[in-house]
Amino acid sequence: MKIRLAAYLQSDSIVDGEGIRTVIWTQGCPHHCLGCHNPETWDFDGGALVDVSEVCEIIDTLEGQDGITFSGGDPFMQAKACSEIAKYARSKGLNIWAYTGYYFDELMHLAEKKPEIMDFLREIDVLVDGRFILEKKSFSCIFRGSTNQSVIDVKQSLKKKKPVLIDKYILKESSDTSNRKRQEGIFV
Ligand code: SF4
Repeated sequence: MKIRLAAYLQSDSIVDGEGIRTVIWTQGCPHHCLGCHNPETWDFDGGALVDVSEVCEIIDTLEGQDGITFSGGDPFMQAKACSEIAKYARSKGLNIWAYTGYYFDELMHLAEKKPEIMDFLREIDVLVDGRFILEKKSFSCIFRGSTNQSVIDVKQSLKKKKPVLIDKYILKESSDTSNRKRQEGIFV
């Protein structure tokens, strides 16, 4: 199986999730958010096709990493390949974060027709979800760019069938209440 990547794997990141992480930059994103930092990752024909087994071989060589982060691009556009890689990384003791422009609720809806979405979700520990919204950009948001985005505990969310936000990342002082509303089960 192949995966289309925007760049070579990037090790030792401390800004793409907790701990020291290796980022997998997937190629292809349908969301086209205004102010996106990586517009070169939008093109579904861009980047380079790489065999999933090659990515797993690179994972074998990693040292001193706490986990893998899928970013992009939108990793859910290549859920099957990402799921295989995530499964392999987990078997090596690495935890899994993923960034997506979809909201958790949208992924659950998509998963009804595309089982690979659910397969990938099941391999993820923490999901940072939602489009980047330029007007809601904030430097107070840890591990995300705008206040509408949330840092989600995926295992708990799948169990409860609604997004369960990780409390320490909820912006309690923000005037944008979307984070808090989602914690109360209100889809915004
Ligand atoms: S979802 Fe992420 S990669 Fe895609 S356009 Fe929005 S900010 Fe850029």
